[in-house]
Amino acid sequence: MVLEWIYDLTYALLKPFKKFLKPNSFAEKAMISIEKVGKGVVFDCQMCGQCILHSTGMVCSMNCPKNLRNGPCGGVRLNGHCEVKPEQTCVWVKIYEGSLASPKYGSEIMWIQPPVDRTLQDSSSWVNLLHGIDQKMKTVWQTQDEKDALEPIFRGSNEKE
Ligand code: SF4
Repeated sequence: MVLEWIYDLTYALLKPFKKFLKPNSFAEKAMISIEKVGKGVVFDCQMCGQCILHSTGMVCSMNCPKNLRNGPCGGVRLNGHCEVKPEQTCVWVKIYEGSLASPKYGSEIMWIQPPVDRTLQDSSSWVNLLHGIDQKMKTVWQTQDEKDALEPIFRGSNEKE
């Protein structure tokens, strides 16, 4: 998927500038503006500051009316629409479809995501990623071995499509 490629490219381009892209710096303020516009237009980003887009089929999970980071909930309708907003397709249906179309990161939909850290709201997710600020809670929810074990399960379900 081209969005996965853009994600990898953006990370590669930003990484050398890590020492300039510090939390609470002018550079972070600039990044926040860029993310608000760029990710806002493309992903309807809600600026949670701890982006998991590449783990959710390049669909922003924060647009789920319940803000679920692990979904779907039990209320998704038979037609794949949202329980809360019946007029819209369930965000987690879109995430599932996006994950199937994501050869590199699609299997990460199997990962258990930690709760949203609301203290990071409206900060730069790229700055937080570069400095590991968004990683603090992640390792306590699922070990890397458990994550690795899920990859072939996902790929197996993908092949049945
Ligand atoms: S997961 Fe967070 S940072 Fe990423 S697009 Fe959604 S709201 Fe924005």
